[in-house]
Amino acid sequence: MESVIFKTVSHYINGQKVAGNSGKFGFVYSPSTGQKLAKVSYASPEEVDQSIALAKEAGAKWASTSIGKRVNILFKFRQLLVENTDKLANLIGKENGKTISDAKGEISRGIESVDLAIGAPHILKGEHSVNVGGKINAYSMKQPLGVVTCISPFNFPVMVPIAMSTMAVAVGNAMILKPSEKVPYSALLISELWQEAGLPDGVWNVLNGDKDTVNSIITHKDIEAISFVGSTKVAEIIYETGTKHHKRVNAFGGGKNHMVILPDANMDQAVDSFLGAAYGSASQRCMAISVAMTVGQKTTELFTEKLKLKVENLHPGSYDDESADFGAVISAEAKQSILNAIDQAVEEGANIVVDGRYPDVDNKDGFYLGATLLDHVTPDMTIYKEEIFGPARAIVSVDRIEEAIQLINDHQFGNGVTIFTNSGRDARKFIEEIEVGMVGVNVPIPIPVGYHNFGGWKDSRFGEGQMFGPDTARFFTKTKTVSERWFDQDDSDEVNFNFPSS
Ligand code: NAD
Repeated sequence: MESVIFKTVSHYINGQKVAGNSGKFGFVYSPSTGQKLAKVSYASPEEVDQSIALAKEAGAKWASTSIGKRVNILFKFRQLLVENTDKLANLIGKENGKTISDAKGEISRGIESVDLAIGAPHILKGEHSVNVGGKINAYSMKQPLGVVTCISPFNFPVMVPIAMSTMAVAVGNAMILKPSEKVPYSALLISELWQEAGLPDGVWNVLNGDKDTVNSIITHKDIEAISFVGSTKVAEIIYETGTKHHKRVNAFGGGKNHMVILPDANMDQAVDSFLGAAYGSASQRCMAISVAMTVGQKTTELFTEKLKLKVENLHPGSYDDESADFGAVISAEAKQSILNAIDQAVEEGANIVVDGRYPDVDNKDGFYLGATLLDHVTPDMTIYKEEIFGPARAIVSVDRIEEAIQLINDHQFGNGVTIFTNSGRDARKFIEEIEVGMVGVNVPIPIPVGYHNFGGWKDSRFGEGQMFGPDTARFFTKTKTVSERWFDQDDSDEVNFNFPSS
């Protein structure tokens, strides 16, 4: 049996690890064993209020610290993330259930966004025009917003919090991070690294909690901006509540990501790419491929036949089992809802090609599901319409590329999509016509590298501004434009009642 981790710590406020005294708490489980790992306290409105007040004070000093000094701390933070990768990956595995090798992958993708934030001095450079009128120069500058918040999901306990927040800190804001209460401890370990890197107390804070904690944060008068990542249902609530309270909000939601396979694609490459992109991390990635859309009957038959053989050989396992293809899903409830979705798909007419509902695993108490593959899935079925956050994947067969584009464009979500083909002409048509935020050609998961912008379209994102890339700096700053003139000593300005012109 695994031992309880972090028995007393729930929050990180003003440089201190805090137990929390709200009296309200939840349990943290190890998905691999089904055991309770810890009890985490949910921050009360008073704790939220106190943290934001301390962050505001620390943020004002941080904003006036030179950018060079801020970046030195980021360099150190990056180094500590690298040095502590094993420790972080082990903790991610414990509380999230993903395999250690997968966890290391998310840490290295998270570090990409630290790399970009280290370039904040370049990104913060404003614009400057000389002599726009009589001895007047015009320029713009980007200033931090103040105290901002990031609210993160369970599926990337390190990458998403880092990607959401590092640039916000680099450009001079103070941060209140509210991680998922299902994986509260990775964020606390990140806090230790920030402290060791020399970040002043109060600039980075972690408050754990549930929806009530979130509500206290996002409606607080001193929170200037809200960045949210999670399910579409909650993203919409956050966007509506935040904007109603006049906050700047971007809220990233769920997805239903298609892989389109054209008849001229290399089938072996497409099958291998689908396997990892669809089932990796027990399919708990917002960019996971959930639908293979095969174009033409022959393509459908060939792809299904080859894929079936490989899906049958996938097996889930404990986070520290090096032979496991993927780990357990996050909770007993999540497992049940995925099982329900498979049952419903069958009731609605889908066919199970590979049945992963009852995997052969050592630990029967862990939240394990094997890889399930369904075909004869049609666009009117629930399994096609909704995001299934677990290893149940669908094959949808269409006759022509135009039909594939139309179906994807009509879908509620528009996070990611990828196409497998050897035709440049078809790929170009697809890229131009598809209504999805992140597009791949012959790549399994079209997640952009950390220095490009990340963000879906349609109900996969509410609000403006993207994540990961340079847009993060724009989101977390406000632009001030200055028109500046310095008179020569004996110059005089004529009185002029007309609108200023150059
Ligand atoms: P979730 O929406 O349940 O929770 C996300 C965060 O919101 C958590 O911190 C949680 O405590 C909080 N929360 C939950 N219910 C709330 C409510 N009613 N009011 C206010 N706050 C609330 O999401 P999850 O289950 O943790 O994560 C999985 C989802 O996140 C999937 O839908 C996945 O696609 C999505 N996701 C999206 C992206 C993206 O970039 N678009 C990235 C990762 C995950």
